Amino acid sequence: LPTTLIHSGTLVCMDAAGTVARGDLLVRDGRIAALGEAVPAALGGRAPDRRIDATGAFVLPGLIQAHVHLCQTLFRGLAEQADLMRWLRESIWPLEAAHTSESLAASARLGLLELVAGGVTCVNDMGTVRHTEALGAVLESAGVRALFGKALMDRGEGVPPALLDDPAAALAECRELAGRFHGAGEGRLAVTLAPRFILSCSDRLWDGVAALAREAGLVVHTHIAESPSEGREVERAVGRTAARHFAAHGVLSARFVGAHGVWLDDEELRLVKEHDAALVHCPGANLKLGSGLAHVRAWRDAGIRRGIGCDGAACNNRLDAFHELSLAGLVARARDPAAPLAPRDALALATREGARALGLERVAGALEPGLAADVVVLDARGPHLGPEPEADPYATIVHAARAADVRLTMVAGRVLYEDGRWTTLDPGEALGAARAERRGLLRRAGRAA
Ligand SMILES: [Zn+2]
Repeated sequence: LPTTLIHSGTLVCMDAAGTVARGDLLVRDGRIAALGEAVPAALGGRAPDRRIDATGAFVLPGLIQAHVHLCQTLFRGLAEQADLMRWLRESIWPLEAAHTSESLAASARLGLLELVAGGVTCVNDMGTVRHTEALGAVLESAGVRALFGKALMDRGEGVPPALLDDPAAALAECRELAGRFHGAGEGRLAVTLAPRFILSCSDRLWDGVAALAREAGLVVHTHIAESPSEGREVERAVGRTAARHFAAHGVLSARFVGAHGVWLDDEELRLVKEHDAALVHCPGANLKLGSGLAHVRAWRDAGIRRGIGCDGAACNNRLDAFHELSLAGLVARARDPAAPLAPRDALALATREGARALGLERVAGALEPGLAADVVVLDARGPHLGPEPEADPYATIVHAARAADVRLTMVAGRVLYEDGRWTTLDPGEALGAARAERRGLLRRAGRAA
């Protein structure tokens, strides 16, 4: 890996002190070696192998997407229902059931093209029930940092038989996946357990997930309290609300990552905090499906570990981390105008806090010496960021910047995207494959193309 000097940018470090300073950032052996005034000494008189000019740009920690469904990128525009349960039963599950390894890989590549070009360096992906090795192979070759798992489903009204597993066999497959992929890609990949949500998982499955997560130290990635109709079905099915159900099964823990959390009551938020579990805010998906407004400012005030995610292209429909950050600020305002989410707290959801939510705080999430060189260079010269982008860098980045302003995305010191070019993904090939695979998928799902 080349030693790289990112030169003369505005470093928005997202460290504990909230450092913002103009200066250089030195990358060596895939890690951040030095920042600002410490760079010359770290270089020791030697020239870097590569120099990247960041004049007129912000330099940020790589953005972390703590809840995504790359398998759904092919479904963009195919699922426009405005209710979670109808959206799942009528569109998403039948489409996921029609995936092959090839269509899943094409879907993941298309999603990663968009995410990487938009400054995303790390994803926590829910996967789908089948073909998880194909997803792992794409994540490994794309060079991103990723947690991913096989979606677990063993029951549920309206679930196609092709998506239903036997719990013991499904957990055995998770063990095999962990053996193959946990720590792969020079440590960039981690395998999670991904029970989809309460309505798709039996008590036996939740107990198995809790036991395997404890034994193997795996993150449990699921959905929690997303929509009112789901909440009513959950109470009918298990006789209690989501966080109480997870706590009762031993699933709620410091390894728990739950997406949405829109409808958690005060006692459930206390349970989440007591167990040091993490929640992931998905404002775009919540707004588009009409699920509600999560109280992310309350999560912050309660000290709950938290991240942000675009969810999937079938319910958002964009995988633009900057758009999502702005929405987080807007949703907090709408939820309680007197308790907004400051732009710095919003950006933290995709950086410092997002890393903590996924247990990656010793790996990524800030520009600090010793952390992985997961770095984004964001051009700040566009008129939509002017006239003075540095007056409040956090407000500029969260409420004015766009994914298209990203000039460079680096993961562990390796450039994955720079000025319209991808190094590990081929946009022509990926788009062509996505179109072809979408046609085949629709045919298999019995839908007109
Ligand atoms: Zn989701």
